Order: sequence, then structure tokens, then C-alpha cells
Amino acid sequence: MIRISLGQLVRVLDGTLHEAADRELAVANVSIHSDRILSDCLFFALPGANTDGHRFVEAALRNHAVAAVVSRNWAEKNRQTMPGPLLIVNDPLRALQRLAAWCRGQFSGRVIGITGSSGKTMVKDILHHLLALSGHCAANPGSFNSQLGVPLSLLRAAHRSDYMLCEAGTSAPGEVASLERMIRPEFGILTNIGWAHIASFGSQERIADEMANLFRHIPSEGWVLAPADDPNVDRVLNGLSCQIHRFGAPSTTLPYIIDRHLTPSGVTLFLRLPTGEEVRLPVDSPLPGVVTALEIALCAASLLGGDLHAMAQALTHYTPPATRSEVWKSPNGVTVLNDVGGFDPLSIEAALRSLEAFGTESGRRLFVYGTAEQPGPAGEGTSVQVGKLAGRYGVDELLLLGGDSLNAAGTAFRQSRPHGATTLFPHVEAVREYLLSNLQWGDILLVKVPESRGVDRAALDLVEAMAPNRFYLDVKAVTENVARFRRLVGSHTRILAMVKALAYGSDAVQLSREFGEMGVDMIGVASADEGRQLRSAGIDLPILVMACTADEADKLLRHRLTPVVYNLEMVDPIAAAARVAGCKLDVHMEIDSGMGRLGIRPEQAVELAERIDRTRVLHLCGLMTHLSCADESEEDPFTQGQLAVFQGVVTELRRRGFSDLICHAAATAGAVRFPEARLDMVRIGLGLYGLYPSPQVQEGLELVPAVALVSRIVKISLHRRGERIGYGGTFTVPQDGFRAAVIPIGYHDGIPRALSNAGHILIYGQPAPICGRISMDSMVVDVTAIEGAAEGTDVLIYGDRGGFVLRPEEVAEKADTIAYELLARLGPRVQRIFLRE
Ligand SMILES: *Cc1c(COP(=O)(O)O)cnc(C)c1O
Repeated sequence: MIRISLGQLVRVLDGTLHEAADRELAVANVSIHSDRILSDCLFFALPGANTDGHRFVEAALRNHAVAAVVSRNWAEKNRQTMPGPLLIVNDPLRALQRLAAWCRGQFSGRVIGITGSSGKTMVKDILHHLLALSGHCAANPGSFNSQLGVPLSLLRAAHRSDYMLCEAGTSAPGEVASLERMIRPEFGILTNIGWAHIASFGSQERIADEMANLFRHIPSEGWVLAPADDPNVDRVLNGLSCQIHRFGAPSTTLPYIIDRHLTPSGVTLFLRLPTGEEVRLPVDSPLPGVVTALEIALCAASLLGGDLHAMAQALTHYTPPATRSEVWKSPNGVTVLNDVGGFDPLSIEAALRSLEAFGTESGRRLFVYGTAEQPGPAGEGTSVQVGKLAGRYGVDELLLLGGDSLNAAGTAFRQSRPHGATTLFPHVEAVREYLLSNLQWGDILLVKVPESRGVDRAALDLVEAMAPNRFYLDVKAVTENVARFRRLVGSHTRILAMVKALAYGSDAVQLSREFGEMGVDMIGVASADEGRQLRSAGIDLPILVMACTADEADKLLRHRLTPVVYNLEMVDPIAAAARVAGCKLDVHMEIDSGMGRLGIRPEQAVELAERIDRTRVLHLCGLMTHLSCADESEEDPFTQGQLAVFQGVVTELRRRGFSDLICHAAATAGAVRFPEARLDMVRIGLGLYGLYPSPQVQEGLELVPAVALVSRIVKISLHRRGERIGYGGTFTVPQDGFRAAVIPIGYHDGIPRALSNAGHILIYGQPAPICGRISMDSMVVDVTAIEGAAEGTDVLIYGDRGGFVLRPEEVAEKADTIAYELLARLGPRVQRIFLRE
């Protein structure tokens, strides 16, 4: 958000400032969580479902919030005891909304409002992907479309973007009007009018009226894109003064779908463009809704002036993030469709159609159907229908999860499919056990289990059952680690989260999606391509690219990536590209203060800064260096020397008028061990995962372990004394009755070969030594002393899981490497699982 002083804020929010506060203090961020305070952050005390944000005012201020926005009622009672600064308003949520409306007023890009009963998030994600081809696009994350989500999104959107996509949701009358006051769209999209929340509206007419409120102030040069052939839509759009466009029908001005063919992995669409040309578009998801969302997004992007050929190209084999979690392909060839739609026969049929559309050459189609107990004839009626549908759509095996009322489904299924198999399971655990031993390469599994049974949990259980090798990342632990760094560095120091190399082997996109919420100010990547990938996944935070080259200037500009300039030669080509693109670009520059890698020599720093400045299109806004030995105390004099060199450059540049530079030097080790290195920003990588570059860093800050690599025993064999194990026969069995367990994970998956005959893993917390050489995709461990170890038992390769810990740093040391390399080498066959509860 734009920087604003407390004095100005008082006016915008129509509040009063507790005397103790300094009106000149600047605010550049907001937070509603006391443990996620960003730099220069304003805390809003909002009521929550189970608690009241006012209880956390003290914690927020302790975590360096610049000020807290509190209600007048609360302030009257607590003003004396609270150190402040407090900004007192009638209603903190209203105040947050006012601030969002103010920020929206400062935004000069084009604002597109999206509403409708369903599909909003998917349309937003696809449109975001398309608009990112030609400019920078901000959007609300996920489905942040509520009275709270919308203002937070508006406040966090990068205010210099070309476009802002804002979703407006509603569950009760009047909500869209309130969102419209903040969003003030210039263009509008209505996906559909359905039945969601019909109870609180009474009729579809009323739902249509409610949604049309989003469009009431769209100027006459703007437009609304809405479905063709819906009388409700026609009625509510009648009074608008802007243009109305329709999707879903032949058109001379917009692209439309003329035909579709099912394919093994989804569907191929045939589109007619306004030029009359026909374009083929293969889509990787058969899920209902994706096709419509694609069509809407293409129409909208076309109205905004995009190149339709380039867009169709960009959508080829694209899967919107909203559906990604629902289609999961395991490394061992099993596909899971986790259907989160309704339980009425129509929704079930739609889900089964998706299953059928997913071609499978060798595998079977399995359907896990679970339902809350619904005794009596009604339950039985549905059951019979489900059984029949499963038979009709080619299900090979029907797995029923629940009580006896489901027996009717099994009977109906067998009648229509005599060779089909069906089993009734009492609980998710039993289904999991069954799948674990029965799923094969090529199988496709549709999971439809009601939320009361924990859809996510059930799907996760299945994923766990099917993927022997799993890397768990505990997102809550990462959040806590960011909070601990925030406490360490204070409020005026920004936090950059380093996600180079797939976020140290985990998954950069998944993790970066959550950084804004965690209180991270900026994201760091190694290359322009890593940055581009984050942008097209819809990530808005500023992104700093450590090592790009001048020929990537186009990518930097198109995706608003901030490059680090490290030599004189890079300046002119990047500046030339910026001139062609007609925009300015922020850059940081790097000083080599002793690392001997990237960076300009200190004596050339002024020359580089002035060359950047002279371009007038590049804006030098940051200055960095990298410390080479910050984790080793015996090298502290060297580190202090590096910092002194860097300080010298900072002082010299400031003296020459480069006044608003963000200066940064410290990674995890430097941030913990050298308070004087924290400066304006710290760049944290390894520490996010709760790991330490060295034991000396561990002494300075306690972090929460966030990673674990888990595998499973696939075979146990008995050996006699003198037999040999593995390539080269390097391990000789020492005694009879030796129990050896095979673990299906090897050096291709990131297990260092140096652990051969050296390391151990944990089984039920007990060490199992590695016997013989690590192979490409398996290894053998000694489980003679571990009684419980059996085929199917999970084993811990490293990390923190189930109450047992084997520190990755320790494992790395045994392999004569570092935790960084251990993580970054994690192979593609390992399933990444993000834990959020
Ligand atoms: C990788 C990297 C970091 C992060 O280092 P950690 O030790 O993982 O915190 C910071 N800055 C630069 C330039 C890097 O390359």
C-alpha cells in the first residue's frame, strides 16, 4: 500500500490519535494478526469468530506495530494502561474499509470487479494469468472476497499495477453494495446467477439485484461482461449506462466456443475469434466450470485489449490454481480427483462425468463415496441413484464409506455392472488401508466425502497412502518462524523471503501464496524465470531477482520484477528495454564486499549508481551485499570488515543524494548473529524452514522445525551372517537373523550417496542404520533391533514428524554437506505435502 503518515490516517479514518503518538510516523502495511506484523505496519483490532482483536493490541505493539486502530469503547476503558500509539475510531472494520477505499482512490490502473454465484475465483485466476502477459496485475488472493477479505486485498495490492482484479462475494443482502464502495470497478464480470445463498435472498431475482450492485457506478466508457440468455441478468443490467457484452453465445466481437472434444487428460476446445479464425485450445482439466471460466476470462481479456493468439497460447494446457488441489497426480501413477461439489444427484453425476472423461489406458476407475448417515427411505433413494450412476459412468470399483444405508448403493451398482466390485468401509482409516494395498499404476480415484468427514483430511490420508516418499512442509511453523524473525528485527526492517530453487526444494508457488498473510514484505528469487513463474501464479508481492542477465529485461518489465544490477554493462540494455516499454523500473544494486561472487567492486559503486540514475527510467531503490562467513564465529572479523566496506558505500551514496535506498546485507545467519547487519531488510531462506546454517546461529534464535522427509518400508528380508548387501557388496551382514528393510528412496530423490554405510533413519523414533550403498531409488536399513518395523511402516529420513526428530543439519553433516544442499536436492518423485492445520 502507499505510505501514509499517522496524521493523514487520522483524517482518512475519521478517528482520533491518542496523545502519545507521533503524527509524522509512516504506515505502509496493515495487519489484523498481532503475530504477523510487517514493516511499518498498522494493526487493526477486529472482532473474530472466537475472540476479540483488542485482546492482542498489546502483543501487536510489542511486535513493533507502528500503531493500533481500536474502537472508542475499548479505548475508554484501556487508554490509561496501553502505551500506544492508538488510533481511536468508532468501528475498526469500517475504518479498515475506509482506508481500502482511500487506497483504491490512489490506484491508477484499471479495476475489474468480478461477482456471481460460482466460478469467480477461477475466472479471476485465469484472467490474472492472461493479463500478466501484457502488464502487471494485482488480484485478491484465493477467494478473499468478503467484507474483510476485499479491503485487505485492496490494501495489499501493489499500487503501481496496470490491472487490479477484485472478487466480490455475498451471502446476505447489502454486502455487494458495501464492497462496491471500496472496489469502484471500471469494468465488471458477472459469472452466473445460481442458487447459492438462496435462503437469505429468497429468490434468484433478488440474488441478481444484489450482484448488479457491483456495477452501478461503472462509467459509460466501461463495460459489463455477463452470461447470454438469462432473463434475470437482462433485467438487472438494463439500467446501466456502460456497454454490455455477453459470453456463451456466437458473437462478432468476442471469442466463443464452437465445439469441444473430450481427450484423455481433459478437453480440447475449438474457439472462433472475432477475426473469423478458428483456434484449438487443449485444456488439462475435465472439471465442470473450468471451460466456462476459460471462456469468460478470454472474453474479458480480449475486451481489455489482449492479443487473442498469444492468450490462447498461454492457456494451452493451463490448469487454474483453484482446481489444482482437486486433481492430484501421484508420482506412482495414480490420479486423485477430490470433488468438493454438492451431494445432490446432479453434482454427483457431474463428478462422475469428470471421472469418465479422464481417460485411462491401463488403470481402473475407483469411486470413494461417503455420506453422513441418512437413515430411512430418503437415504436409500439417494444411495440407489448413486449406485446406478456409478455403474453408468464406468466405475470399476465402488468404495462406500459410511453406514448400512449405503448397502443399497452397492446393490444397485452391481446390478448395472455385474463385474464391478464394491465394498463398504466403516471409517476413512479402513479405506486408506485398502487403497494402500490395492491401488496400481494408472488407477483413477474420485473422492466424494462430505465435509463433516473431513474432505481435506480424507484426501490427504489417501495421498499419504499412495505416495511412499513425502516431504512435509508445515506452513504454520513457517508462519511462526517469520513472526520470530519479525520480533528479532523490529518493525522498520523489511523481511524478504528467499524462495530460489523451488523454495529450497519445497514448492515456491505454494509457499509464496501465503507469504503476504505471514507478514513477508518481499520475495527473493534467483532468476527472472523463477520470478515469472510466481507472477503467473498470481503472486503480487515485490519480487527481487538476484541474478538475472540483461537479455531478460523484457521479462523483468512485463512481470514487474526488480532486478539486482551487479555490473556496469547491464544498465544500458535494461534501460533501453524500459524505454521501449514506456515504463520505469525499480532496481537494486549489489556490492561485492568480500564474497567474490556477484556484485560490483566498492570503488566502482558510485559510477554504477550514477549510470543507473542517468538513465532516468531505472530507479535505484536498494543497495545490497552478501556476507560469506556470517555463520562462523572465527570469521567474525572478516564479516565485520565486509559490513564496514558496505557501510562505506552506503554513506558515500547517501552523501551524493541517493537518499531513499533500502540497504540489505544479511541472510539467515547475518540476521541472527549481526544486529548491525539487519539494516533496512533481511533476506531469510533456510531460517524459514526452522533450520540453521550453523550451530552458532542456533544459539542466537530459536526456530520451529517445519520440514520432514518420510518414506516407508516396502520389504523386509532376513539375512544370514556373511551375506552382503547392495552394490559393491560393501556391507557384510554381521550375524544370523539380521532383518534388513528396503526403503524406496535413493539418490535420485535427494538422499546423499555419501550416507552409504554412514547415516541412519528413524523408525518409531529408533535409529535404523543404513546398510551398504544408497542406490538410485532405494536403500536398505538395519531393523533387527526395531521390533515394530514391518512392511508398510512409515520411516523418517529427516526432519520433525509424529513427535520424533532427526535434524536435517545432522544428516547433512554425516553426508559431508549442508542442510541447504540436502533440501535443495529433493527429487521430483517426492510428493510435497503442505500442512495447514
Ligand atoms: C540464498 C540467499 C539468501 C538466503 O540465505 P539463507 O542462508 O538461506 O537465509 C540471501 N541472500 C542471497 C543473495 C542469497 O543468494
